[in-house]
This record gives sequence, structure tokens and C-alpha cells, in this order.
Amino acid sequence: MDDSYEKMTQLAQQIAVCEKCQLHLSRKKSVPGEGNIHSKILFIGEGPGLNENETGRPFVGQAGNFLNELLSTAKLKRQDVFITNVVKCRPPANRDPLPEELTACSSFLDEQIRLIDPLVIVTLGRFSMGRYFPLARISSIHGKGHWVDGRMIVPMFHPAAALHQPNLRDSIMHDFALLPTYIHEVEEKITAEPVENANPASEAAEKKEATDGVQLSLF
Ligand code: SF4
Repeated sequence: MDDSYEKMTQLAQQIAVCEKCQLHLSRKKSVPGEGNIHSKILFIGEGPGLNENETGRPFVGQAGNFLNELLSTAKLKRQDVFITNVVKCRPPANRDPLPEELTACSSFLDEQIRLIDPLVIVTLGRFSMGRYFPLARISSIHGKGHWVDGRMIVPMFHPAAALHQPNLRDSIMHDFALLPTYIHEVEEKITAEPVENANPASEAAEKKEATDGVQLSLF
């Protein structure tokens, strides 16, 4: 039996007491992320907002409700996926995270990606997109699957930004509807590859078949 659940729980405990950047000064609750730690798909948002800071959970409130709606567009349920952010503590007054805060927090996200080892990563908004495409404009690349270091990355608009802007709302709904196609594409690629050239994700795919449904519940 793998020990990913235990390691993810330990990571959340480290995040809860982290003081690596100034965001710890104003946090009420850190928001490490939650969901299926063996998910095929990982969503990475920006940072906790007011409701998240109160509850310790990612994407609650209006943006969270919209995210749930978007997930159903992709025939996914919230409990099927893992959702986290690039910074785990709330930037005051919902300001943008600063470069030094993104750098300080990045090792937590790196470790989450290593443990979950998803087939597809969806970045929500420009800060998580910047991890993979630092020079890109989100309006140019959203909704398209890109291979980065052997993993498929799909940049999308942030649900909070799309919530009240009809053009972005239509775009993000269209982009979410494509997600099953991208997951299928990665699974096909893994199946087609000879063992000696196998993508590192192949091991993850087997693991996900065997452990589908394991949940991380920290709250
Ligand atoms: Fe630590 Fe990240 Fe919170 Fe900064 S945002 S205090 S690096 S957990």
C-alpha cells in the first residue's frame, strides 16, 4: 500500500505552521488543498480568498460553486479531483501574490504534484499558468493542452474572473468540456508507448486504476 495519503497529510501539517513568507502573518487558516490524492487531474488556482481563509478549504463560496458547475461540464465530480493553489495562505485584501511569496511556497506545490502525479494539470489563472508558461498570454493559450516535461498542462481562466464576464464564462465552460478529451489523449499515449520509452505518467496511470477513489480529507 502506498504512503501518499500520509505524506500529503504531513505536508498539510507543515503548511499550517509555515512561516516562509509574510502571508503567514495574516492567515486564519492555511489552505493546503483537498481532494482525491490519486486523481488523474490536478487543478491549481491562485491563492485563498476570504472564505477559504476562514474555512481552510480551496474554492468555496461563489467561485467554488462555479468551479463545481464547471467540473460537471467535464463530467467530473469535486471528489474525483485534487484542487490546490500556488500560495497556501491568503494574500491580504485578495491582492496578487508577490514573486517572493510564489517562490517561498513553490516547494509545497512541487511536492503535491510529485505525490499526486496527475495525468493532466489544469492551471486556473495567470499565476499558476506562469509556472509553466512564464511569457504566455492566457488569452492565447487557454483551453489547449501543452506537453511540458512529459506532462500535459492545460491553462484556463480563473473561475472567479470568469464568473461575471460573459465572454470569459463561455470560454472557460468550453475549455472544461474538453478535459475528458485531454485525459483520454494522455491515456492513449501511455498505452501506445513501448515500455522502455514509457512516460513517467504510465506508472501513475496504473496506480490510479488500482487506487481510484482514495480521498484526502483534512477537515
Ligand atoms: Fe508558507 Fe506558503 Fe503560507 Fe507563505 S503562503 S507562509 S510559503 S504556506
